[in-house]
Amino acid sequence: MNDVQAPRGATTVVQLAGLTRSFEQGGVRIDVLKGADLKVRAGEIVALLGPSGSGKSTLLQAVGLLEGGFGGQILIDGTEAAKLDDEGRTALRRDSIGFVYQFHHLLPDFTARENVILPQLVAGRAAADADARAAELLTVLGLGARLDHRPSQLSGGEQQRVAVARALANKPALVLADEPTGNLDESTADKVLAQFVELVRGQGSAALVATHNERLAAAMDRVVRLVEGKLVEG
Ligand code: ADP
Ligand code: MG
Repeated sequence: MNDVQAPRGATTVVQLAGLTRSFEQGGVRIDVLKGADLKVRAGEIVALLGPSGSGKSTLLQAVGLLEGGFGGQILIDGTEAAKLDDEGRTALRRDSIGFVYQFHHLLPDFTARENVILPQLVAGRAAADADARAAELLTVLGLGARLDHRPSQLSGGEQQRVAVARALANKPALVLADEPTGNLDESTADKVLAQFVELVRGQGSAALVATHNERLAAAMDRVVRLVEGKLVEG
């Protein structure tokens, strides 16, 4: 494995080198990631394709600094994740990464607006600014009349739109999305994904989007595939 050098300037948002991850289950070892390499540049939207079970979620959890147990190197915005302590990882996640899950994972007792405000307050933004940003994002996503609805009062597509707004609220350098429209019907999935891509492009974030939908992947800048635990282009 080659040692990764921190990128010069801010052109590479994510760099993976020789990423490995294995799981032990009932005494059997499964090697899911077997040396995955990847570079995502600033503002680039990359589709991560692979059949169910190929390791897409595992890879996104690693890049999102949500789980340990990985071999190889992960650089986010030029910082090597393994060299950070818990506090450093939390700060990097908060400042540089937005995550959209397959299930919305919104806070059930908070309104759409509040769910989008919260990560901004955590990042230190003033309440009035956070509120304005939340209302603006949700309105662009077509939820202007749903600002004060709770997740249980929203449809699946609306819930995912709120989750998209939450992930983009702090204009992260990197947005990670794990089959963000996987639970939606086809036409809703297409609309939500198109809005997601447009917003991500508009604010200049990079994104890595897991999907098993080739058609949706074709709308992105680049496609990488998980094949036998490694990433291949195209
Ligand atoms: P994908 O998101 O592409 O469907 P996953 O990353 O969820 O794939 O899973 C890849 C493989 O890793 C699967 O075989 C899965 O069973 C296994 N796996 C994922 N997480 C765990 C875990 N916590 N413990 C054991 N095996 C796991
Ligand atoms: Mg998955």
